[in-house]
Amino acid sequence: MPWSITVGRFGGTAVKIHITFLLFLVWIAASAWAHGGWAAARDSTLFIVLIFFCVVLHEFGHILAARRYGIQSPEVTLLPIGGVASMPRLPPDPRQELVVALAGPAVNLVIGLVLALALGSLKPGVLAEIDDPRLSLLARLAAANIFLAVFNLVPAFPMDGGRVLHALLAMRLGGALATEVAAKIGQAFAFALGFLGLFGNPLLIFIAIFIYMAAAGEAQMSAAQQALKGLSVADAMETRFTPISIDANLGQAVDALLATAQHEFPVVDAFRKPAGLLTREDILDAVRKHGGEEPASAFMRVGVDSVRPTAPVETVFERLQDPKAAALYVTDSNGAIVGLLTRQALAEVVLIRSVRPDWRFDRRA
Ligand SMILES: [Zn+2]
Repeated sequence: MPWSITVGRFGGTAVKIHITFLLFLVWIAASAWAHGGWAAARDSTLFIVLIFFCVVLHEFGHILAARRYGIQSPEVTLLPIGGVASMPRLPPDPRQELVVALAGPAVNLVIGLVLALALGSLKPGVLAEIDDPRLSLLARLAAANIFLAVFNLVPAFPMDGGRVLHALLAMRLGGALATEVAAKIGQAFAFALGFLGLFGNPLLIFIAIFIYMAAAGEAQMSAAQQALKGLSVADAMETRFTPISIDANLGQAVDALLATAQHEFPVVDAFRKPAGLLTREDILDAVRKHGGEEPASAFMRVGVDSVRPTAPVETVFERLQDPKAAALYVTDSNGAIVGLLTRQALAEVVLIRSVRPDWRFDRRA
């Protein structure tokens, strides 16, 4: 995420702080100072920093659980709304998904209970008095952690409870239907919350909109997955595309950009084996800084995945969800490129299936 500062690294995961979080801290300190002077500013800032430290621990609950199933998270970023762990994918097995989803709130529950035990007792009313400055810092922190655990278990995307619900449904209904049902429950929940917000705290309306959009995103994703069911990569790939030769210079790459409507250009060797990928943005970026004589291959992306034409689209669909993945190569048994799988091509297949669900795709590579 741009505008983030790396503050540390733990077991292969970078911990980053977004600049808006620092501004948020300054704002908290300034408003506390205006009400109660330096002591209040110090206490409020310390409290917020401690809470967000617990939020990072919560994210590491998810990250470490996912790592057990072979999923690495390169970074976790602190934003004023909470922590965001970048997880390339979720475990496909609902039991594993359940463990990963529960691991975050479990961390807050443990912190809250340990603090409560250390303090002797946690009165049930303490949650309502979380802003009360007379409570000790640790008591407020204990209450905040219990609140975080409970709030995150609300059964709606994007809260962890939404994942828990999805995993439990998937064990009974299977993946696609589970996503649909979980998304509907999330949206119904958002409506109820927004309705409550109309008569109570207006902040609830914002949270409701946030939940609704996340649930709608999940539902859309599930519909796309449903539309791609039963299709192979060959059905969805682009077969008419212009590759760029590995010997080409930037000027020739610009020519290819102008001559076609393509946004992604595979860079291929003499045997049509892909060596890298140039997107329209990559070419524009290179042209901004360099002349036309520079080799185009100096600016290409490497490490783009290849898939086989016979692979089911459902299994490779997720790899294109990462915004950094511009396209996938489709290669034959010799490694030569025969097609290009792009987000746009997938979107077109979904469109065709949405107007004609029975449409047969007979094109084969
Ligand atoms: Zn979480």
